Amino acid sequence: VKSQIAATMSDAVNRKSMRMDTGALYDSMRDSFEVGMPLLISHDRHRPVGWIVPAAIYLEPGLTRVLAHVIEPETDEDYSQIKQRWIKFIASTIHDVPQESVTRLKELLGRDVLTGSEIPWDSGAHALRGVGLAERAFPKIFEQVDKDGLVPFTALTMIRPGIFQIGELCVFAHHFMRRSESPFNHFNEELLGTLHQMAKDSSVNVRVRLDPDMVGLADTAAHTIELDYWYGPKFNEDLSSLQTGVTVHTADESERFFHKISRTEFWWQRRTKETSAQLILEAEELRDSESGADRTKLHCRYVHSVIDATTDRIEHLDGSIRAYTPEEMITRLDVDLKRVGRQTEYTKLWRVDGNIEIGRWKSVIHNHFRDNALVSEYFGSQKSKADIREELGKTDVFPQSLNLDKRVPWLCDDARSFRVLVTHQPVILEHISEELVAFPHAWARSEKAEYALFDLQALELMKLLGRDGCRLTFAPNARFMVFDDHYLQMPIVIHRNREVLDQTIKAYRELVSNVREEDPDSPLLMNLSLALPEYTLSVSIFGRCTEVLDWLNRDQPFPPTELVADWVRDAAEAIALFGEGVDTALEYVHPESLNLYPQRKIAPQPGGFRQSGEAMSSAIIDSGTTNSESNEPGLVAREAFKVLSATCSNCGGNYLTCPCSVITGDADPPTAELGFAFNYWATAKR
Ligand SMILES: [Zn+2]
Repeated sequence: VKSQIAATMSDAVNRKSMRMDTGALYDSMRDSFEVGMPLLISHDRHRPVGWIVPAAIYLEPGLTRVLAHVIEPETDEDYSQIKQRWIKFIASTIHDVPQESVTRLKELLGRDVLTGSEIPWDSGAHALRGVGLAERAFPKIFEQVDKDGLVPFTALTMIRPGIFQIGELCVFAHHFMRRSESPFNHFNEELLGTLHQMAKDSSVNVRVRLDPDMVGLADTAAHTIELDYWYGPKFNEDLSSLQTGVTVHTADESERFFHKISRTEFWWQRRTKETSAQLILEAEELRDSESGADRTKLHCRYVHSVIDATTDRIEHLDGSIRAYTPEEMITRLDVDLKRVGRQTEYTKLWRVDGNIEIGRWKSVIHNHFRDNALVSEYFGSQKSKADIREELGKTDVFPQSLNLDKRVPWLCDDARSFRVLVTHQPVILEHISEELVAFPHAWARSEKAEYALFDLQALELMKLLGRDGCRLTFAPNARFMVFDDHYLQMPIVIHRNREVLDQTIKAYRELVSNVREEDPDSPLLMNLSLALPEYTLSVSIFGRCTEVLDWLNRDQPFPPTELVADWVRDAAEAIALFGEGVDTALEYVHPESLNLYPQRKIAPQPGGFRQSGEAMSSAIIDSGTTNSESNEPGLVAREAFKVLSATCSNCGGNYLTCPCSVITGDADPPTAELGFAFNYWATAKR
């Protein structure tokens, strides 16, 4: 499988002007951390192409995001595993209605209405689904169904787009008005919202098709947020400029892939009667393949409208789905709309009659054909196709991003570099030893062995903890490194209980305040982890040591395990005061562990490659720099060294194990024997 990280949700205001609560981002991550969720094409639950495992909350000044592992299958076997996970996921989401709701629904519906074969269904509200269930439960509503299968909108009370309340219960709009015409997916909220608005106008009569099979509990109707963006159209208002005849707009590759549309046809005709003339519009999209739950048919959206040609008054508009078998579609593709005839299976979804205002008329058509850019293209949308693509490609509105130099991402200019990453790791308590162990962020591999890499200064934490009688050990294959800069990378320390974690925080306060005295701008990375029975809660902190020290001096530098969401919300507010500084490219995040890890990057050797005899593991340092970049002003290549031996200036023993500490002033820097390791990018000293 191919795995990468991506930001899946944020607390920024999105294009629908909605903002997620920052604390709720943590809850949604925690709830889906264990099973994950399918990665869907165009939000269609029938098209899983991978798996998303949300695992971290990334707090930066001005923006909080959920980070996830995105796993994409590469082989058939990978794909069948994704499919298996998807089946379990549907069972645990769509069909996993709380027993309490099922009991209430059964009581409210009663034995006369239920057949016993209803399936629990949660797609908008807690509901039961079974053939004819809504028809039996609400005969008075369904009595009003006309010859097209529609009921008047005015007979209904819409509480959410597509959900209509009847006492404690609710009925739903027909599932053909959901994505991919499937009851598993969300409603076309734009279309239903526009119809609802129009129904308030007494000069028009709006009718809609209901789902005859599903009844839900009104108070469980949830607002679904599908972070998709269907832009508003800017159509040409002049109907008389439209040409009669059939116009065909053909889809390009991406429309075919994402929306399975091959083309859309528009047919204007003029029909002259004795005393009047009408303009009639028919538009139909042709799909490439089967959609949604019904794999036997190709569902094509269609609209029909009648306009009085003498007054330009729009009198009628309706929307429906025409269903073709694959064989019928082959025949259909050979002709145009004018020659099709009406023998296809035809399901009317809504209709509007009366005096329809042209702006509304365009909105309804536009929203009925959601995701079909060919429709707005035809109606003379002022956006060119390229603009639309650009618009759709944009993610949520992010605050201003930090202009990171990719070769020195660890440099901190000011407080805006500060960030906190809260990560759930799959490590569990029973696998964590009693003794405190420092884990590295990176390893180096030689032909003979693998080394865990640590900054020589990481030893100071061990020495400070040792004074309080707390033993921190480094792996036997630890290799200590010395760098010619002020960036201090502390290791990952996983604790078994909160008392020891508090001791580590105390030791860090002393360590960081000493670092700050030397240079308040030093970049500093630390990680505090607490093993819990089901996962490990990890908090990485990065920034200038000034802000890191302030953070450590807060009441709760590490979240209380019961109140992480509240802690995340408070933390985001505190960090927001630093301004806006966002690492949109996730340059600071380790792609495998999802811990913070702003890396030093390998630089080429001046005057040819100097063999260090060891390959750095790819996780530690990205190479990929070319010689042409090495002359960048302000950037220099510095040397990193491995410590072969270090003798304590105070006790004369091995500094790697003795209790003396440079940082607290009981020893001068040790006399070290160093070996060249590699060159890396840094800024020239000022
Ligand atoms: Zn010593």
